Amino acid sequence: MGPPGAGKGTQGELLARHMGVPRLSTGEMLREARANRTELGRRAQAYMELGDLVPDEVVLGLVAEALDGPRSPAGFILDGFPRTIAQAEGLSEILQERSTPLDGVIFLEVPEEELVRRLTGRSANESRSDDSPETVHRRLQVYQAETEPVIRWYADHDVRLIEADGVGSIEEIQIGLRRLLDS
Ligand code: AMP
Repeated sequence: MGPPGAGKGTQGELLARHMGVPRLSTGEMLREARANRTELGRRAQAYMELGDLVPDEVVLGLVAEALDGPRSPAGFILDGFPRTIAQAEGLSEILQERSTPLDGVIFLEVPEEELVRRLTGRSANESRSDDSPETVHRRLQVYQAETEPVIRWYADHDVRLIEADGVGSIEEIQIGLRRLLDS
């Protein structure tokens, strides 16, 4: 977990490769559905373009489906999910039904000024259609209103919360993250 621009995708991918587990990113699943012009993709598009969250039941359906696919014995990393308390509750049910406990939640911490700088400064090859200044502002707002409370929710539900420093070079952040996980 972490705000938009925290580096969840980059760090999640490196960590997944390091641990030999798949990374399940709801953002990527949604972008793929859009690119393939599926019914679900069309439904998600309007929300994503505005920087809003796609409805919970859509995202929960995607995650449940992904977890019913081929399973890696070493587990998986969820990236950018859950983003609302309803998603956290839904995930908890999905995992219980599949007897897959959640080991922990990693929270990547980055100050807001740095997030804005990163999101609005993505170079052409990494920029996304939801990186316009208005959408960035909206995504940060939505994060504070909907996603931040999820961290508290996990703390209240006795889930191990690992707070990692998301500032520094990609390598430095990854090293710090692995160190935290090892300890
Ligand atoms: P991301 O790649 O994780 O930044 O996600 C890009 C966009 O996809 C977000 O701004 C949302 O519109 C949508 N999205 C991704 N994950 C979720 C989620 N867990 N819940 C709702 N919307 C999501």
